[in-house]
Amino acid sequence: MAKEHPRSPAEMAAAPQVLDTLHRPVRDLRISVTDHCNFRCVYCMPKAVFGTRYHFVGHDGLLQFGEIERIARQFAALGVTKIRLTGGEPLLRPRLEDLVARLAAIPGIEDIALTTNASMLSPEKAAALRKAGLRRINISLDALDEDVFQRMNDVGFPASRVLQAIDDAAAADLRIKINMVVRRGLNDTEIVPMAERFRGTQHVLRYIEYMDVGNLNGWKLEEVVTAKEILGALGERWPLEPVKAQRYGDVATRYRYVDGQGEIGVISSISQPFCGSCTRARLSPEGQLFTCLFGTRGHDLRALLRDGGTDETLYETLAGIWRARDDRYSELRATAVPQGGQKVEMFHIGG
Ligand code: SF4
Repeated sequence: MAKEHPRSPAEMAAAPQVLDTLHRPVRDLRISVTDHCNFRCVYCMPKAVFGTRYHFVGHDGLLQFGEIERIARQFAALGVTKIRLTGGEPLLRPRLEDLVARLAAIPGIEDIALTTNASMLSPEKAAALRKAGLRRINISLDALDEDVFQRMNDVGFPASRVLQAIDDAAAADLRIKINMVVRRGLNDTEIVPMAERFRGTQHVLRYIEYMDVGNLNGWKLEEVVTAKEILGALGERWPLEPVKAQRYGDVATRYRYVDGQGEIGVISSISQPFCGSCTRARLSPEGQLFTCLFGTRGHDLRALLRDGGTDETLYETLAGIWRARDDRYSELRATAVPQGGQKVEMFHIGG
């Protein structure tokens, strides 16, 4: 059963150490359970590209919960302690709580989290996920202003319903982080109003620098609002101080309000890359394993499973893939061209 507190340094030291070529252990598995989404966020899945004719992964192509559990179990044996369920929009996958319960029962898995746009997060679903073993939830909300938010999700979904879902998740005793992707000229005017809304609550607001994920979001460097700019805008209103990272490999840099009104986080993949401590592996809905958000090549685990591969073979395959890993795209972004073609789309492997 998932433990409340992370492993002690002694337990961590005793854990199997499969390191990649940059001496990074694998500690986090992000599982995309579907590539379908009911939003069309302009920085991820522009409607013009992902229209009604776009072919998403069909039911037969999706990894079944039992297959996902087998892969997660071998990753736990390799040292993974934290699993994040993502998508597309993961709540579009029916009975997700059944998968959570399976994953929560894996020895070594200490933490299960979910990233969602909360459009389908009813009080009943929040309670069912919590009962199954979910502890934390990251809810995407890019603006409070309805015009701005609905322009960004591009399906007219109101921010008021996401705010209601946040309250429902809190009532279900889920720990909540709010993810806000900041894009200059679109929602940078919302940086301070969002902070104002979540200051003094238990919820941690995380600002995410707009990233060149995939190939289709028309990313431009000048549209990136950097961590320094975000902290500058907030610091003019409320003094902030840095908070020590809780866990090796955490993506967000943490700050607390000096006046005690809570915390924020900043994910700065563009201006302050953090590849050096990246411990994340990513599984796509059809079973392709990627070792970087900006990866261009996946490893087909579904074929291995469906061709009768044993757990030992799976373990050795995963260990081999990780040992050969040398990803550090964000550190090389400014200098190197991605090798081997098109980057995988973010909605396919989760952010
Ligand atoms: S760019 Fe790739 S290697 Fe670097 S932090 Fe992101 S996922 Fe990890």
